This record gives sequence, C-alpha cells and structure tokens, in this order.
Amino acid sequence: MTHMQQVGSVASLSQPLLRRIREAGTRERSKAKRNLDPYSYVSCWTEEESVDGKDCKALVVILATRGCSWALRSGCSMCGYTNESSSAATEESIWQQYLSALRNLSDQKVLKIYTSGSFLDTFEISPVLRRRILEDASARVERIVVETRHEYITSATLGHISDFSDKIMLAVGLESANDMVLNYSVNKPSNFSHFMRTARLAGSMGFKIKSYLMLKPPFTSEADAIDDAVRTAQLVSSLSNTVSVNPTNIQKDTIVELLWKKGAYRPPWLWSVVEVLRRSAESGTRVMSKPTGAGTVRGAHNCGKCDKRVLEAIADFSRHQRISVLDGLDCRCRSIWKEDLKLSNLGAFYTEQDYRFDVS
Ligand code: SF4
Ligand SMILES: [Zn+2]
Repeated sequence: MTHMQQVGSVASLSQPLLRRIREAGTRERSKAKRNLDPYSYVSCWTEEESVDGKDCKALVVILATRGCSWALRSGCSMCGYTNESSSAATEESIWQQYLSALRNLSDQKVLKIYTSGSFLDTFEISPVLRRRILEDASARVERIVVETRHEYITSATLGHISDFSDKIMLAVGLESANDMVLNYSVNKPSNFSHFMRTARLAGSMGFKIKSYLMLKPPFTSEADAIDDAVRTAQLVSSLSNTVSVNPTNIQKDTIVELLWKKGAYRPPWLWSVVEVLRRSAESGTRVMSKPTGAGTVRGAHNCGKCDKRVLEAIADFSRHQRISVLDGLDCRCRSIWKEDLKLSNLGAFYTEQDYRFDVS
C-alpha cells in the first residue's frame, strides 16, 4: 500500500467517528489523577548514552509539573503522561524536585530533564525557573536534553536561553511528517511545515535537535507505519542531529489503550523497528531507538523468544550506528511479521463497525 493510500485509509474514517474517538480519548485521559507529590520527582535513573560517537552515561530526571497543556485539553492518542503530573506543582516545588534528583549526578556527562510535557511551555516551567535550572545544569554536564512540542519553540523562548544553546538538545515530538497522520492518528494539533520552520530557527541559534518519530500510530497498518516513519526520518534528517524512532506502547488512559483492549491494536513488531532503522540509516543522520516497554505485550515485541536478542542489537546500533549489528538477526516469527506486512488492507478492517466508541 502506498503512502497516499494509507492517508486515504485514515481519511476514510468519518468525521463523526473521529469526533467520537477524540471524545473517548479525552474521557479516558480525564481519569488520570494528576495528584503526585509536588515536591517529589517522578523518577530518575542513569542510562548508557553516546555523545559525538563516544559512549558515556546520562542521568534521566522526570519532573512532575502541572502537565502538558495539550493533554489537559485533549491529548495525543498514545500519551498517558498526564498520570505523571501534579496539579499542585509550583515553581519552588519543581526546583526542589530538580535539586533532589541531581543528588544522583556523579560522572554522567548528559542530563536529560523531562517533564510530563514541554520544558518550553510556560504553563509547566516558568521562564525564570527554566533559566535557573539551565544555569545550574550547564555548569555540571556537557549536554542537556529537554523535551518540547515545537509550538513552544519561538525566537523569544529560545532567545531567553540562548546563552546555553551549545549545550542544549531540544527533543521534539514531531511523530510524523504527514499532517493527516498527525491530526487523525496521533491527535496532535501540529503541522509538519511548522516543525521544519522551528527546527531551522533552533539550529540557526546553535541548539541541537532530536526528532521523535512515532512508529505505528493507531489506524495505520504495520507496513504503512514503517513507510511513514522512514519517510519522516528522511524528511527531517537534514535538520536533526538525531532521529529517535519511538514505537508506540500502550499507556494507561489513552485512545491507544482503548483500541488495544478492544483487540483492534497491536504495538509494532521489533522487526519493524529494525526495518525502520535500516532504511533510515541511509539518510546519514544518527538514527536510534530506545523502545519503552519493549518485549512486553504493552510495548513493541516479537514472539518472546527473540525479543532480548533483537533489542540488544537495536541498542547496539543506536549507540554505535553500525548497520552490521542488524544483519543476521532471524527467528521463526520473522515470517509471521512478513505475513503481517502483507495484510495492509486495513482500510477495509478499520470500519465504523470495528470501532464502537459509544463507550458511555
Ligand atoms: S505526547 Fe507530548 S504533546 Fe502529546 S499529550 Fe503527551 S506530552 Fe502532550
Ligand atoms: Zn521471534
């Protein structure tokens, strides 16, 4: 199935159905509590990382903010981060979370400061707190990675932190270069041309860009999802220092979870991740994947027997960019995956009857 046909299958969903899907998603997300302790960070761990081709360690810190502004209005179809926020979070409480998480910093060269949404969204992190955190962090590590929607990347927000630009990598949740997929599958009110404009702006100001792509949003077949991710990786490669392929996982209180529980969604195969990495690597940009929940029913998975081996190869490739580590991977389930790719006529499968979103 071609890319355009895939767009057609998304478009073939009727407007009333799409509205019902969104309403169902919003209803699911409204179950999220947002009641975390405003003075305690969500989590913090050390992981392997690579900077300029050299192995190192990164400290990952998840801060509890008031939550993603978009998630509080509707939210992306796969995102359950609202569960990791605190409606009582304040500038001071987030600063205390940061300080307490940074007690875990030792020899890590990279600091990843994630929130339940966007570091550049003033609703979550005020400009004053943003600078306070970056001033502190830039004195301690070589690289700082923060996540943000591209809607918050403006010359004003970047200008306010531009003195740290050489250390900052902006990890941007683009998801897909296809606006139909963005709007109807991901339920993200974005467009690709805006991403390109802001990535260009950030690059011109010295910031690095990491582009997140979503592998297998709902309402796409396995084969279409691979094509969409590869096409997106190719289109963003010239403006991205890193492209991160994020296979969809089943998070709580989301549209994707709703579909999964109805038996209408399967997270992508790890073989699909391998395929996307292989085909995108030709773009010349660093392409990597660190699949969340991989090897479980809620994450990207294969048959269970080969998952560990395939995941190790994905991790190895992600760090060192040697395509040869993906060669020679095989398992009996690979032929089942190949059969799955042939079942691309999901436009017929995804009918009004398959999705009864009258889940009142
Ligand atoms: S994926 Fe990002 S933009 Fe979408 S709802 Fe989650 S935090 Fe918000
Ligand atoms: Zn297998």
